[in-house]
Amino acid sequence: MSVLSDRAKSLKPSPTLAINAKAKAMQAQGIQVISFGAGEPDFDTPENIKQAAKKALDQGFTKYTPVGGIDELKDAIINKFKGDSHLTYKRSEILVSCGGKHSFYNLAQAIFDHGDEVIIPAPYWVSYPPMVALAGGTPVIVEATEKNEFKITSDDLKKAVTPKTKALIINSPSNPTGSAYSKKDLESIAEIAVSKSFFVISDEIYEKIVYDGFQFTSIASISEEMKKKTIIVHGVAKTYAMTGWRIGYTAGPEEIISAMNNIQSQSTSNPTSISQKASVEALAGPQDEVGKMVSAFAQRRNYIVDRLNKMPGVSCYKPAGAFYVFPNFSSYYAKSYQGKKIENSTRLADFFLDVARVALVPGVEFGADPFERLSYATSMEDIREGMNRIEEALKKLN
Ligand code: PLP
Repeated sequence: MSVLSDRAKSLKPSPTLAINAKAKAMQAQGIQVISFGAGEPDFDTPENIKQAAKKALDQGFTKYTPVGGIDELKDAIINKFKGDSHLTYKRSEILVSCGGKHSFYNLAQAIFDHGDEVIIPAPYWVSYPPMVALAGGTPVIVEATEKNEFKITSDDLKKAVTPKTKALIINSPSNPTGSAYSKKDLESIAEIAVSKSFFVISDEIYEKIVYDGFQFTSIASISEEMKKKTIIVHGVAKTYAMTGWRIGYTAGPEEIISAMNNIQSQSTSNPTSISQKASVEALAGPQDEVGKMVSAFAQRRNYIVDRLNKMPGVSCYKPAGAFYVFPNFSSYYAKSYQGKKIENSTRLADFFLDVARVALVPGVEFGADPFERLSYATSMEDIREGMNRIEEALKKLN
């Protein structure tokens, strides 16, 4: 009998976390690595949020809370959805979990059975296919092309839908491309979802990180029927520079939320009490720090996109949101370095790390091999130096 379950054996570690670990190990050896690997803001958590956590500690708010989150936080989440997307939810339609990743995991466990097909547009966030598969579902990958700004069209979607389609995952703005669906895009997707009766899992974790006046729309707000078929996955990590605090949340039909609550009650129990209090402050308190972070990201985005597009043979879509760029480097895949062929995004990422001392994540991990993902949630100084290094390294390929 094998020690490990088939489930465990089928999993590999998250590639983004693995690359960051390698870059950190090199830095620990004194090698000056510029890292574009991290999927987290480089800013500190805003002071008012930290103060709320300290107050919670001082007041002894350090015990178990209700499994699915304290009412105060659920109410702050309800108000957030009302204010931002004109969506009305009851407390029984909200669940707070230990990060957006945990929210998605619970959801997958709650709604997918063997044989259920889940449409995942590629490029996708690395954790969707494994979490769907762990729950027994079958990921159905649909390519969203660079030409169409990495968004699937209604024709792409219609072709992928079968009687077994249980859900579609939409991540707007997207990790890894930064692409975002307009209201019009979502209306045509909603029409198909409602008529074919499948769920849409809307991962809105980058909602607040948008540029050039882009108007974020939640697909749940398209119609009452669509709201009944939507489960929103969200969290405080990216908007409020709170990645380590581990608070995510889900909004959706009561039946699903209740099943997720049961799963959470038999696994992790409640998310950290102190982090919940901090998240109340994040969502209900002053929002000016968010604006400051987004303007810094916007400036970096403009610079990095411009530099990448000026590099011979590289094309880079200008993202509408999030803090990633996803440039196409495939014109270099036929080239070699010191007689060794660079044949795909993994080889190129290894080359950048070894030769240029720049860490980025190969596109293949997001289901799109022509590309590399760079996070620009790092200082302008590092971005400038990183771009210089990449530009110089590319000249060494022939
Ligand atoms: N969804 C997307 C698209 C993400 O990029 C991430 C984090 O990288 C998450 C969800 C989960 O975030 P967390 O678990 O830190 O709240």
